[in-house]
Amino acid sequence: MTSPLSATQAEDLRSQLYRYAQDIQDLMEQHMRLQARYQAVLQSNSRDSLPNDLLLVGLRQGHAPCLVTDLQGFIVTANATAQALLGAAMAQLEGFSLLQLAPHSQRPVLQHLLTQCQAASADDAAQLTQLSWFDGREIDSISPFDLLVMPERKPDASQLIWVFTPALPSAGDALAQLQNFNLLRHSSHGMHLLDAQRQVCAINAAACQITGFEPDALLGKLAPMVTPEHSDSALHKTLWHDLQARGSWSGEVFNRRSSGQIYPEWKSLRLVKNNQGEVFATITVFADNAHPDPHSQQLSRMAYHDALTGLPNRRLFDDRLAQAVSQAQRDGSCLSLLFVDLDHFKPINDKLGHEVGDLVLKEVAQRMKRAIRLSDTVARIGGDEFVVLLQNTARQEDVQTIANNMLTRFSQPIVAGQHQLMVGASIGCARYPQDASDEASLIKCADAAMYTAKRFGGNHFSFYESGGDHKALANLGLDLWRAIERNEFHLLYQPQVTPAGHLRGCEALIRWQHPVLGVVSPQTFIPIAETNGAILPLGDWVLSTACRQLRDWQRSGLGDLTMSVNVSPRQLRDPDFAQRVCSILLASGIEPAALELEITETEALQSTQDGTRRLEPLRALGIKIAIDDFGTGFSSLSRLQSMPIDRLKIDQSFVRDLADAGNDRARAISQCFVSMGKAMGMQVVAEGVETSEQLQVLTDQGCSLIQGYFTGKPMTGPALLATFANAASATSTL
Ligand code: C2E
Ligand code: MG
Ligand code: MG
Repeated sequence: MTSPLSATQAEDLRSQLYRYAQDIQDLMEQHMRLQARYQAVLQSNSRDSLPNDLLLVGLRQGHAPCLVTDLQGFIVTANATAQALLGAAMAQLEGFSLLQLAPHSQRPVLQHLLTQCQAASADDAAQLTQLSWFDGREIDSISPFDLLVMPERKPDASQLIWVFTPALPSAGDALAQLQNFNLLRHSSHGMHLLDAQRQVCAINAAACQITGFEPDALLGKLAPMVTPEHSDSALHKTLWHDLQARGSWSGEVFNRRSSGQIYPEWKSLRLVKNNQGEVFATITVFADNAHPDPHSQQLSRMAYHDALTGLPNRRLFDDRLAQAVSQAQRDGSCLSLLFVDLDHFKPINDKLGHEVGDLVLKEVAQRMKRAIRLSDTVARIGGDEFVVLLQNTARQEDVQTIANNMLTRFSQPIVAGQHQLMVGASIGCARYPQDASDEASLIKCADAAMYTAKRFGGNHFSFYESGGDHKALANLGLDLWRAIERNEFHLLYQPQVTPAGHLRGCEALIRWQHPVLGVVSPQTFIPIAETNGAILPLGDWVLSTACRQLRDWQRSGLGDLTMSVNVSPRQLRDPDFAQRVCSILLASGIEPAALELEITETEALQSTQDGTRRLEPLRALGIKIAIDDFGTGFSSLSRLQSMPIDRLKIDQSFVRDLADAGNDRARAISQCFVSMGKAMGMQVVAEGVETSEQLQVLTDQGCSLIQGYFTGKPMTGPALLATFANAASATSTL
């Protein structure tokens, strides 16, 4: 016998029943609403209403190079990446025939495609084909591209959408080619790529977000809503029939999330055919119609994505990395983290402006996305810093292949507006669990490995090696780049005087005020700047600061002075070196004859013909060239004679021993240098003169100029002015 309920128990039961009743009522109302909407959808899904094809919308707005032409191939519009690929701005492209822009040998391929599309007036299937295209508009360099062409039927005039992607080095089957397009990779529209059997073979991030299904739950499974197995309703029958007959379908359907919740979806489907006309894939794209609030979507996108490239930002990346690490911990899998830092980006930004810099970053982001697999994540975490997360990478060779693929793509020139630019990248890789066991250490190790890669001079890839010296050096190397942006450098000027003490010029010497380490010597950081490329922007900064200082002194009446600036071998190897110097000189307004470039003896003598030839136009302008640290290299007199040199600077190691009364050898050497220089018509400067005895010897030997602590230590610009202004005014009044 059951005992009677107490009054409280009865009350609880009653309210529970009441809640159930309410739930049932809610569900019934929702069911009625869905039914009504379902009927409306059925009626509105008529083909004549030309519903919005999400794939085409996504492609036009996306980052893959995408062009729209009319059925004859005349360009109607092109997105930014397509403009970069074609090497022309929209204003120049509009109305141009794609046939005219194509490499000559490829015109028949394009013509054939156009003819097919014109003939098949009802076939919307996408057509995948291969053709060769100019590589970054290098007119004699043609590379293989994959091309996807899709008709877009419009009531007024139909159009064709063309999407390009550089072909994979090892071209796989058509499905792999299609995956390489990375269609709608960062779109807010979900995308499932289906193979010939309509099994899901690729999924984008938005699809997971919308449906709640992780890729693993769907990959390799029959796609819901698209297969005949699911076509038991009237709507599915229409969808299935249209897709088969016309190659595409768009409309509203109902789908189920992983939570079981039913939601309305706007869906677009398109079959893809290979060269033989066989359907080998279906692209399905969908948007969540239950949450169509574009504003909130936009906000959440902004919070997790980089506005310029559309890539995930640091926040989203950290999230994904944390998830990936805990997943790897659970299933014992491996993952790799690549730290990618662009080479030579800062000078582009500084010299050509942020607009060009932005185009370069967008293109770089595209190239990175194309180089990785759909399941991988690439994020932009700083100005020109990117990170890539590669999951399930047990084999080191696979990571190497992906990194090499990236480097190959980076080694191709980037067309940005009218400029054709070379931007390499240095890539470092750290692996879980081999190199680090948590996210922060993984990032640090990858960063350190990236710095090791930088030391190879750019476009290089390195794995992290524990025990390597990259950590200590890495920080300094990275700090250098930041230091340029944070203006942590300043120049000191060391006087160069005649033996009688008249100021004739000075040498600009750089100093780095490091926020933690204090003043760092150029002997420590210049070699690092040379290997990581920072010397190029740094060298430009030194040159322009020194030139401006000289102009200011001239205005203050300091008279005719020569400003000597050290130039590193790496700067000299830059093909644009002469041009950079000229434009800095022009901007400063000083006479070319007032500037002297110091190059080291070894560099001067060993440098390629190119290096020294780059100095000739500068010397023709009147700029002077000095050989620094003379005597420490391996001079060949015949080579020295043929070089464009105005001055020899005797290295301080020879000057040091001159004070030693018994050291006749040292005196003989310095005498030899002075005589030799004079015989070749060069001025001779002695460096590191610290005592009056040294000065006396050098004066007796006929040395033209003296530089050293004895006649003046390196000092700031105002200090030099204060020290020598009186002497200058005394000389000028004589
Ligand atoms: P350097 O071009 O041979 O410069 C002369 C060096 O000797 C300077 O060292 C200077 O401070 C030092 N010095 C001058 N007089 C005396 C003296 O009487 N006694 C002694 N013991 N030393 C003296 P600093 O400034 O440390 O620069 C070292 C080197 O770093 C320079 O050697 C140059 O090769 C490089 N460097 C300095 N500034 C720059 C720069 O702006 N660009 C490049 N590429 N290299 C630079
Ligand atoms: Mg020097
Ligand atoms: Mg020197």
